[in-house]
Amino acid sequence: MSVFVKPNLAGSLIRFKSRYENFIGGEWIVPLNGQYFDVVSPVDGQVYTQVARSQKEDIELALTKAHEAREAWGSRSVAERSNCLLKIAARLEENMEQLALAETWGNGKPVRETLAADLPLAVDHFRYFAGVIRGEEGGISELDAKTLSIQMKEPIGVVGQIIPWNFPLLMAAWKIAPALAAGNCVVLKPAEQTPVTVLIFAELISDLLPAGVLNIVNGFGLEAGQPLATSPRVGKIAFTGETSTGRLIMQYASENIKPVTLELGGKSPNIFTESVLRANDAFLDKALEGFAMFALNQGEVCTCPSRALIQASIYDEFMERALERVKKITLGDPLDPSTMMGAQASREQYEKILSYLDIGKAESAACLTGGKPYTNEYYPDGFYVEPTVFEGSNKMRIFQEEIFGPVVSVTKFEDEQELLEIANNTPYGLGAGLWTRDMHQAYEVARKIEAGRVWINCYHLYPAHAAFGGYKQSGIGRESHKMMLEHYRQTKNMLVSY
Ligand code: NAD
Repeated sequence: MSVFVKPNLAGSLIRFKSRYENFIGGEWIVPLNGQYFDVVSPVDGQVYTQVARSQKEDIELALTKAHEAREAWGSRSVAERSNCLLKIAARLEENMEQLALAETWGNGKPVRETLAADLPLAVDHFRYFAGVIRGEEGGISELDAKTLSIQMKEPIGVVGQIIPWNFPLLMAAWKIAPALAAGNCVVLKPAEQTPVTVLIFAELISDLLPAGVLNIVNGFGLEAGQPLATSPRVGKIAFTGETSTGRLIMQYASENIKPVTLELGGKSPNIFTESVLRANDAFLDKALEGFAMFALNQGEVCTCPSRALIQASIYDEFMERALERVKKITLGDPLDPSTMMGAQASREQYEKILSYLDIGKAESAACLTGGKPYTNEYYPDGFYVEPTVFEGSNKMRIFQEEIFGPVVSVTKFEDEQELLEIANNTPYGLGAGLWTRDMHQAYEVARKIEAGRVWINCYHLYPAHAAFGGYKQSGIGRESHKMMLEHYRQTKNMLVSY
C-alpha cells in the first residue's frame, strides 16, 4: 500500500493501494485480460497507483452480477432500502477526512473544497433520497364502483452509469443514491483520470449492500464505457460528461430503445446589473465573490460562470473591484486548508486550457489578469494554471466553447434586451447567475434565460432537493430532487375489476 504523509491536516495519512481491481458482485475482481492503467495525481504529476483496465468481458461480468442481485434488491421494502442509504451516508461521514484528502490527491481540487462541499453534498444526497422514498404515497384510485386502478412504480432493473472526473465522488453520489433508492442495481464506470476515490468508497460501504447491487468497473471510454452503454442488458444509461460524448451515448441507447439521462457541458453567463454597484457593501462583496466563482474547482465545473456580462454603466468600476478580488485567489499546496485553488485534473485538461489562453490572445481578447501556467513551489510538475480574466466579445471562441478551466470571458451589455441576446447566444443551457437588487427584474430576466438553473444573487449552490439539469445541448433530464427517481423507475398500471 502506498502511503503519503501530509502534515497539514494534523499528520493525516492518505492511503492508496498500489493496484485497484474492479468491484464486482461484492468482490475485488482482477480484470479478465489482466491489464491495468496508471493513474497520475495532478497535484504532483506523478503516477500514484494503477487501476483495472476493463474491456467488454469485465462489463458483462458486472452486468451478470447486477442481474443476479436485481430481484432481491428491487423487492426489498422501501424502509430497508432507505436504511441502507442512511448507513451509506453515515459511513461516508465517518470517513470524510480520508475521502476528502484522497479526492484532492486524485483530482487536484483543494482540500478546503472537498471537506466543505464535495463530501458533505455527497452525504446529503444519500440522506435526501433515503428520506424522499419514505415519504411517497401509494397510487390507488377507484375508477368506478367495480374497478380499481393501481399505479405502481417499479425499478428499471440494472442501470449503467458513466461519470466524469471533475467531481468524482459527488458525481458518483448523484448517480448512485437515486438509482439504489428506486430499487435498481448499478454498474458504474468512473472517469479514467479519477477512478480511485469511487473505489475507496465502494470498499468502505461493501458490507452495507448485498453483493452485486453496486458494481464499479474501470477503464477508458471506448473500451469500457461503450460496452456498458451499448449492452442490451442495461435498462437505462445515465451519463455525465462532454456534449460530444453525450451525442454518442444517445446513439448507442437508440439501438436498444433505452432511456438516457444526460448531464453535459455548459457556457454559463454570470450577469451583473447596474443595481449591484448601487447596493450596500455587503451585497457588492457577495457579487464580487460570485464573479470569482469561475475559479471554483479550478473552473472544472459544468456550470462554471465562464462568461461574465457586466452592465456598461458600471463596467469600469465593477471590473476594477472584480480584478482585485480575483488577485486574492491563492494557489498552492491543494492539501493545505488555506489554499483556494489547486491543480487542473489532468495533463490533457491542463494543456487544453493553455491552448485556450493562446486562442483568446490570438483572437485579440484583452487578458486582464492571469493568462499563464502557475509554477507551484511544492509541486513543480503538477498541472496549475493562474485564474484568468479575458475581455472581449461574445462571438469569440473563448466565449462560445467550453474551456473547463479557471478562465472567465467578460463583456458589456447596455440593456435587458442585449443582456438576453448575449446570455442565450450559446448552444448550451445549463446554468446562469443573475445579480440584481431589483426583484422584478430578477424574475423577468430569469424567466427568459434559457438555462435549467438560474442562481439569483448567489452561485454554485447544489442542494439535493433542487432539480438540476440542462436546456438545449446541456442535457436531458434532471438530477437531484425527487424527480430524479422517475428517471430510474417505470410505471405499471393494474386495472382490477371486482
Ligand atoms: P467525457 O465525455 O470525455 O467523459 C465522461 C465519461 O465518459 C468518462 O467516464 C469517459 O471514460 C466516458 N466515455 C468517453 N467516451 C465514451 C464513449 N464513447 N462511450 C461511453 N463512455 C465514454 O467528459 P469529461 O472530460 O470526463 O468531463 C468533462 C465534461 O463533463 C464537461 O463537458 C462538463 O461540462 C461535463 N460535466 C457536466 C455535468 C453536468 O451535470 N451537466 C457535471 C460534470 C461535468
